[in-house]
Amino acid sequence: MPLVGKKQALELGASIADDEVMDLMFDGRDFVAKGLVGDYHGRVCIMATGAARKKHPLPGMEALEGHGVSYCAVCDSFFYKGKNVAVLGSGEYALHETQELLQVVSSVTLLTNGVEPTAPFPDKVRIDKRHLQGLVGEGAFQGVHYEDGTEENFDGLFVALGSANATDLALKAGAAFDQGKLVLDENLQTSLPGLYAAGDCTGGILQVSIAVGEGARAALAAIKYLRENK
Ligand SMILES: Cc1cc2nc3c(=O)[nH]c(=O)nc-3n(C[C@H](O)[C@H](O)[C@H](O)COP(=O)(O)OP(=O)(O)OC[C@H]3O[C@@H](n4cnc5c(N)ncnc54)[C@H](O)[C@@H]3O)c2cc1C
Repeated sequence: MPLVGKKQALELGASIADDEVMDLMFDGRDFVAKGLVGDYHGRVCIMATGAARKKHPLPGMEALEGHGVSYCAVCDSFFYKGKNVAVLGSGEYALHETQELLQVVSSVTLLTNGVEPTAPFPDKVRIDKRHLQGLVGEGAFQGVHYEDGTEENFDGLFVALGSANATDLALKAGAAFDQGKLVLDENLQTSLPGLYAAGDCTGGILQVSIAVGEGARAALAAIKYLRENK
């Protein structure tokens, strides 16, 4: 946020948290955004996490989404009860998804695709830093191809690259999607009352002017929602 805007927001009573959000929960009335540093509670939530550039990082991934490839541990971990899964990622968000999975699955292997892990993964997680070439499986995910020519089988793959984006957070909170796209009404509200999205994360034209306009529209709609739902 530019310094003048930040100063004005603080003077008007806003509080600003410098944190990475890992999870978003909705109990039918209130939202809780769970961050690395703290939890943030509110009646409304506007997601403005920017463009999701991490989607489909490997060939064949899109076709296997929902068929062994998942972007949400809290939503899908139960399908892998007692099974061996892999997490694609290396940072705090991957650690969060891994911890969610470890409560249900038999084993988690972290696939970092050539980078060093940047979060404290538990010892029981096997870390494989080899470069990946692609996925194994047609119609259903079966495993991964490494660049060294070998293959390894897994029951499921959870993608947790970078930070959680609006799609990840909306999935976790339980918002509706249509053909993989977050459903938004004319006020940029998702199917969950009080949950909005604005800016590049809505998947429209990636321009500052559009992001600012959508931010204003979502904020005005959120204020109206709060006034009507005290
Ligand atoms: C190289 C480049 C050049 C560009 N040039 C132009 C240009 O000339 N003109 C133009 O109009 N547009 C340009 N754009 C596009 C413009 O930058 C975007 O449209 C605009 O920044 C979108 O704003 P936003 O707030 O939606 O997302 P962003 O500006 O991407 O902000 C999203 C913020 O959310 C944070 N975030 C994400 N996930 C989390 C999480 N889980 N927890 C906490 N924080 C999180 C990110 O760290 C980031 O600070 C350019 C973009 C790029 C990449």
